[in-house]
Amino acid sequence: MPRTPINALKATASQPQRNSLDRADDRDRLPGSVVVNLRETLLLWYGHFGRDLPWRQSRDPYAIWVSEIMLQQTQVKTVIPYYERWLTLFPTLSALAIAEQQQVLKAWEGLGYYARARNLHRAAQDIMLRHQGVFPASPADVMQLPGIGRTTAGGILSAAFDQPMAILDGNVKRVLTRLVALPVPPKRAIADLWQLSEALLDRQQPRDFNQAIMDLGATVCMPHQPLCSSCPWNGHCEAYNQGIQAELPMAETRAPLPHKSIGVAVIWNDQGQILIDRRRQEGLLGGLWEFPGGKVEPGETVEACIQREIREELGIEITVGDHLIVVDHAYSHFRVTLNVHHCRHVSGEPQAIECDEVRWVTLTDIDQYPFPKANVQIIEALRHGETSTDHH
Ligand code: SF4
Repeated sequence: MPRTPINALKATASQPQRNSLDRADDRDRLPGSVVVNLRETLLLWYGHFGRDLPWRQSRDPYAIWVSEIMLQQTQVKTVIPYYERWLTLFPTLSALAIAEQQQVLKAWEGLGYYARARNLHRAAQDIMLRHQGVFPASPADVMQLPGIGRTTAGGILSAAFDQPMAILDGNVKRVLTRLVALPVPPKRAIADLWQLSEALLDRQQPRDFNQAIMDLGATVCMPHQPLCSSCPWNGHCEAYNQGIQAELPMAETRAPLPHKSIGVAVIWNDQGQILIDRRRQEGLLGGLWEFPGGKVEPGETVEACIQREIREELGIEITVGDHLIVVDHAYSHFRVTLNVHHCRHVSGEPQAIECDEVRWVTLTDIDQYPFPKANVQIIEALRHGETSTDHH
């Protein structure tokens, strides 16, 4: 794949609507005076409009790290209550390191991308072992921890220690892409966007600068309808100058996500308990609990699928009864439709053939177990059904 940035950016230099960015012509691209102006205007704007977020009140690298990981794939307003609860449950790195994985996954329940929680837990244990429980301050050490890449390391080290480390998260990518009117999807110009982020970073105030550019992306240079007229960078922004800000960043053409139809069983026993299983550690949603089931084969009915899957995966016989709910859910690489049925246990002792553990639980106790989001909807449907039955 050709590296575009410098060439691509040079291409913009020949456009009729020139501004000072266009005259940049080598590694740094931006003339020093423009860089200085971009820094100053951004920091001034940040002084007035920067967000007051809970993790910004802390200089504890552990707390900042937790926030950075939560924010990787989740929006700020969703993260705040999780972050606060997390620090109550695991106030220190050592408290996290000695916690049970189930507690950690439970605290993460609903945030999605559970590898993040497993990696946080593992990394905390690594830090206890290899760094005597002290969060490392060296970029190389930080990037060796599971779940921490270059931008997360930059975010943590600049926020906690004011180290001059650039960042390139989704917000920053979008802002920079528009600033230089990048004519290719950002994925194809990552090295150049990093270079631009490095070049712009205010090395005297890296903490504030990084937070400011993230805030700019989150509150002004938003994905749809950026508020260019209130943007401190509009004087230098190539996309704005060309009136193409709404068209950038250019999208990667994506194939539609494959879809799987899944038959899911809520298996009841005579004591009014439900059977749940814990997924294997490896792979999607590893370590979380779920209602058992599996993929509907071509030509198979949902009921037949459930009966077959339960026999294969748990070694028991069931009868498949009433339909409970249909849940649609999209993961990053595929979509699923869960077709859920009430079932009754007929014979056999459940065995953990395709999972790590099985357990009979009551609807009251079920909240102690971490479940993926789609399964939480099933629990809610069960509760709702219980309430409706009570009412009648
Ligand atoms: S001027 Fe508009 S497009 Fe350019 S950085 Fe500001 S908000 Fe984004």
